[in-house]
Amino acid sequence: MTLNHTSAPDHIGHWIDNEARRGSSGRESPVFDPALGKIARTVDLASEADVDAAVASAAAAQPAWGEMAPQRRARVLFKMKELVERHTDDLARLITREHGKTFPDAQGEVQRGLEVIEFACGIPQLLKGQYSDSVGGGIANWSQRMPLGVTAGITPFNFPFMVPMWMAPVAIACGNAFVLKPSERDPSPSLLTAELFREAGLPPGIFNVVQGDKVAVDALLVHPDVKAVSFVGSTPIARYIHETASRHGKRAQALGGAKNHMVVMPDADLDQAADALVGAAYGSAGERCMAISVAVAVGHIADELVEKVRQRAAALKVDDGEAPGADMGPVVTAEAKARIEGYIGSGIEAGAAPVLDGRGLKVPGREAGFFLGATLFDHVRPGMKIYEEEIFGPVLCVVRVATLAEAVELVNAHPMGNGVACFTRDGRTAQEFAQKIQIGMVGINVPIPVPMAWHSFGGWKQSLFGDHHAYGEEGVRFYTRYKSVMQRWPDSGSKGPEFVMPVNK
Ligand code: NAD
Repeated sequence: MTLNHTSAPDHIGHWIDNEARRGSSGRESPVFDPALGKIARTVDLASEADVDAAVASAAAAQPAWGEMAPQRRARVLFKMKELVERHTDDLARLITREHGKTFPDAQGEVQRGLEVIEFACGIPQLLKGQYSDSVGGGIANWSQRMPLGVTAGITPFNFPFMVPMWMAPVAIACGNAFVLKPSERDPSPSLLTAELFREAGLPPGIFNVVQGDKVAVDALLVHPDVKAVSFVGSTPIARYIHETASRHGKRAQALGGAKNHMVVMPDADLDQAADALVGAAYGSAGERCMAISVAVAVGHIADELVEKVRQRAAALKVDDGEAPGADMGPVVTAEAKARIEGYIGSGIEAGAAPVLDGRGLKVPGREAGFFLGATLFDHVRPGMKIYEEEIFGPVLCVVRVATLAEAVELVNAHPMGNGVACFTRDGRTAQEFAQKIQIGMVGINVPIPVPMAWHSFGGWKQSLFGDHHAYGEEGVRFYTRYKSVMQRWPDSGSKGPEFVMPVNK
């Protein structure tokens, strides 16, 4: 089966051995077009047997791929880079139709995924080991990083291309095979990605896709041939993935949810800060793990800041993601919309001040779509559900504090630790903030500080379970294991066995 690159077929299956396959479970799930509010297609939900077939294909293909010279593996990634560049709009359109985000935002997602592919093209340099000549007795000692074997990635709905690309290019470049279990909400980009890998020359079995739900995930977590599991998604599932995979002897990195704060100091440029807040809170309808969901207004600027945000947020154009000029599309499903509306109701009940209430918004011609308008709460306090929990929708909460120290204490006390930002014109404030804040990714006058592909992405506290952040050199470490080799070529003739710990005196 070949995708025609502009629209997805009516049914989405798996990808095993470089071919699209129907599953054996007989189970499937609807995939919605969230702007239309209609079922667009269905997706297979894998059985354990489907997962076994994908892992078997990966296990059979990996040894030869892992032994191949890294520059030859890199050539496949160079080709993949060209293909993704050429098919950026095809990928972006699939993303917009199943996720809902605007088309330019989806193009940006593809670009950020592409940058990890570009990073992985440098794998010969990244896999260079260390060498010590003549450590004693004619012995040389070197270290090298070896592939793990079959690796798996379980990814969320909100970046159906970018997050799989945080994992697969690095895993594959390191010499592993990779089995992707994408979100069942927007599965189509995974198959176009697989097709592009095949066109790039990736051998069968090195990139497989199993569509599915908990059944597929659990089968991967206990499969003896899966050596490492990467996960990105919500915190409760991240914790479960990390614990279960670890219990079954696998390496695991599990990135979880977020509650990202943006601290606005009294000396900040308030127009810049308001622009940044509106883009970071409402872009992609707030369905980003690096979205800002809490603005922390420090000192006397709170009223002015809230008013500036209100004006901008009220003017946002909410529409079908492919409509020209749309700032914000729908949220992903009817359930997500109902969940977010529930949070808005709980904020009002808890006594927060609703400055903008996005419930009840209708887009002409798209009346059944899962739309919500931008919502803004002022006077939010710790303890309120809308402050404590991740809403994952277009809802921004403003908390007022008196000082920088209070702002830092507030952020550090929150159990999530993905991203944070501080807007200020003062270098000393910025320096102190960056040092004291207990968060994995920090932006100074940068609202969404997603690290570039050659750095690494990851939060602290309940936003990441495991030791390694994603992609960059952390990714290379995660997808390889360390081997030390000591080598000697002795003169002929034996000196007899040695019973003392060898030292170099
Ligand atoms: P989710 O946790 O519901 O799903 C993520 C993946 O886990 C999907 O593939 C899903 O099929 C699978 N899954 C769901 N329930 C499961 C279960 N009970 N057992 C096993 N597997 C299960 O997340 P989502 O709604 O798709 O994505 C949104 C969440 O992801 C938000 O919490 C967001 O903050 C988070 N996220 C985090 C990052 C990050 O880098 N930290 C990045 C993107 C998204």
